[in-house]
Amino acid sequence: MGGRRLIAMMAAVAAAAVPLHLRAQSDPWAAVRRPSPGTSQPIGSAAAGCLAGAAMLPPQGIGYQVLRLERNRFYGHPSTIAFVRRLAAAAAKRHLGVLLIGDMAQPRGGPMPSGHGSHQTGLDVDIWLELPKAPLSAAELARPQSISMVKGRRVDRTVWGSPQARLLELAARSPGVDRIFVNPAIKAELCHSAGKDRAWLAKLRPWWGHDEHFHVRMACPADDPACVPQRPVPEGDGCGWELYSWLVKPTLPIPADRPNHRHPVLPAACKAVLDGRAVAASR
Ligand SMILES: [Zn+2]
Repeated sequence: MGGRRLIAMMAAVAAAAVPLHLRAQSDPWAAVRRPSPGTSQPIGSAAAGCLAGAAMLPPQGIGYQVLRLERNRFYGHPSTIAFVRRLAAAAAKRHLGVLLIGDMAQPRGGPMPSGHGSHQTGLDVDIWLELPKAPLSAAELARPQSISMVKGRRVDRTVWGSPQARLLELAARSPGVDRIFVNPAIKAELCHSAGKDRAWLAKLRPWWGHDEHFHVRMACPADDPACVPQRPVPEGDGCGWELYSWLVKPTLPIPADRPNHRHPVLPAACKAVLDGRAVAASR
């Protein structure tokens, strides 16, 4: 993680050197209500990018419901939409409970005025760990109460159970998933409960917060050179020293919806996306 954090720091320093008027403001991205036309194409990186030709996740489908529809953050690349639908159907088949889908991306991706630094290219989706047995009402979906699955450095067994563990394994084994961010205590629990077949654990990356939801990041589409991928996840199950280093770190609470003061420098093509023009397909 040290290397990646150093890179993130260097990127932040580089961004700070760019005059403010050239940096992206999140408000215009939050204000657009519809995707841009043309082929669906993630442009840039998760924390500095946008999404041309977004697809929309319907508010509900087999095995899932979308939370807080008024936020208008249920757009994504078709691979992300397909992943959510597949995972929800698989969970329904196994009677794991209803998947509650949190933020994905804005209609044209880009920076958000509150909350996430990432979720900008339509490849990220937050899914709650709470798995209700019956669908929520419209009022509950609009103002959901999240439940933390973590107490101290361990999962809280009064709320965590095998449905959560099975869902995360299903998600990690899904094709096209690049990585999944979970609280270190959740990764530790899965490291403990997994059997001999452990390769899928590599995709689960410890991070602060992520104790009431997990964050799935899809891989860049293979034929999209404008999409900037993250470095591949390290080899191995990640249950050794790296996880330990997280478990001994002081926890950094992540306030859910603080205003976003990051102003990333977006790729030039994002200007066309924001203006609602079609972007030439890069393939
Ligand atoms: Zn997220």
